[in-house]
Amino acid sequence: MLYAPHKAIITKLENALDLIRNTDNREYKKLFSRLGVIFITRRMGVTNEFFMPEKIWFANRSLIEKNNIQWVASLIIHEAFHATQFKNGKYIAPIDRLESPALKVQAKFLKKVEGIRGVIDIKKVTKDSYWKHMAEDVKSYTHFRNLLKYFEDGKIRGRRVNKINHA
Ligand SMILES: [Zn+2]
Repeated sequence: MLYAPHKAIITKLENALDLIRNTDNREYKKLFSRLGVIFITRRMGVTNEFFMPEKIWFANRSLIEKNNIQWVASLIIHEAFHATQFKNGKYIAPIDRLESPALKVQAKFLKKVEGIRGVIDIKKVTKDSYWKHMAEDVKSYTHFRNLLKYFEDGKIRGRRVNKINHA
């Protein structure tokens, strides 16, 4: 299920999902058992967080708006991989240790779609240690938790502009 503040974001997410299907159909088939909901908020910025066992990925809108379809697709692959880390009981590890294998999976996907350029981009974001910048965005983390609560209480309907079931 996709939730987003406007149609252009939904379209981009759909294109990213199509790219995953066309690039790696096996990965695509596993995707929705790992990642149930993609929820893009109205907040600016790139902070995002994946919740297990709810399988909800919250991301602020700039993360989707400012990146191309290839990168958005690779992010989806990355987040879905975190679900497998949870299953293996690794989810309580420090974030930098969770990130490195997820980045590897993301890089592998990007290499398939973009060749070496994608791998260079991954190296860049890794060097930036984006998770440290995100950790300072306390407001977004609070917002995600509020949304999660609304979501679980079934009160999220008013915010939804579109809902597509890809499963
Ligand atoms: Zn991650």
